[in-house]
Amino acid sequence: MSMDTFLLLRKEYPQLIDEGIVHIEVPLKEHCSFNIGGPAEVFCTPYTQKQLVTLLKFCLGHNIPYFILGKGSNLLISDKGVKGIVISTERFDKITLGKHYLSAFCGVTLKDLGNFACENGLSGLEFASGIPGSVGGAVFMNAGAYGNEIKDVLYSSRAILPTQEKLSSPNPVFYLKASEHNFSYRHSVFQDLGLIHLSSLFILKKDKPENIRQRMQELQQKRQDKQPMDLPSAGSVFKRPEGFFTGKLIEECGLKGFRIGDAAISEKHCGFIVNLGSATAKDVFQLIQHIQKVVYERYGVHLQTEIRILGEI
Ligand SMILES: Cc1cc2nc3c(=O)[nH]c(=O)nc-3n(C[C@H](O)[C@H](O)[C@H](O)COP(=O)(O)OP(=O)(O)OC[C@H]3O[C@@H](n4cnc5c(N)ncnc54)[C@H](O)[C@@H]3O)c2cc1C
Repeated sequence: MSMDTFLLLRKEYPQLIDEGIVHIEVPLKEHCSFNIGGPAEVFCTPYTQKQLVTLLKFCLGHNIPYFILGKGSNLLISDKGVKGIVISTERFDKITLGKHYLSAFCGVTLKDLGNFACENGLSGLEFASGIPGSVGGAVFMNAGAYGNEIKDVLYSSRAILPTQEKLSSPNPVFYLKASEHNFSYRHSVFQDLGLIHLSSLFILKKDKPENIRQRMQELQQKRQDKQPMDLPSAGSVFKRPEGFFTGKLIEECGLKGFRIGDAAISEKHCGFIVNLGSATAKDVFQLIQHIQKVVYERYGVHLQTEIRILGEI
């Protein structure tokens, strides 16, 4: 099957193979923060808009499923792997500096973006610099921490609506103003419409690099103190239910340290599931279901997952 997809891609778009962006049977555990997941049948690393559009057209034209992968820090990936084409954004990594703004492509890491902003005396992204995702994943998720969210600093984005009609038009990229992102808690229009994020412009304030660096370090320290940064995870597993703290709910159910296989509820922060070594996606999934059941029975609260599941568990 993977060979079919690969051979078809090679037959129709040999230049993509020559450009070195097509790979087969790539272990996805190496591309996500949980360190869990089987292979991607085909894994592509485009670095131009044209390559990305070509891949999307190919998938749509042949009904081949595709998935846009950022840094894989919010994902639980199936042990069986993923059919179709995984399109990694890692090579879309350009940042451009303006007077009071930065423009960043989807594959830029939030860490690099935060450091770049700091070095250039631009404040506003301190909250994001410790989140281990990419700009695309952060806009898609409206990532946030310590009272701020991406929506607070985002001015506009460039995106692609992946339909045959749009992909075949001379310019498939369109602009979204901040208000058109439909941002809410861990949600954006990118999720509703399946849009592909290409780049965003962030409006920031001038400040001294040393002040910005200090704030970044303080927030990083808070993370180190409260979160299990030394073990593979995908961050908070569940969204925060209104009026409750997820970690506290789970802890009060006596679940701290509870484990299935090598997937465990973190001793440091019960909102995190950590991989103790060789956890499978199935272990994690069963643990998620167990937590949901116990918390619901005790508090009547249904915990919704924040992490996204890729492939069949
Ligand atoms: C230790 C740890 C701490 C964390 N702390 C926080 C935190 O404080 N706050 C927070 O909000 N999150 C946190 N997270 C979760 C995660 O880092 C964020 O959700 C992040 O925004 C995900 O970005 P990513 O690039 O890793 O996305 P991925 O995990 O690769 O993908 C997530 C989703 O975004 C989609 N996506 C990615 N790029 C694009 C694109 N260019 N276009 C369209 N869709 C795209 C994917 O298809 C997928 O559905 C944490 C995770 C870890 C492991």
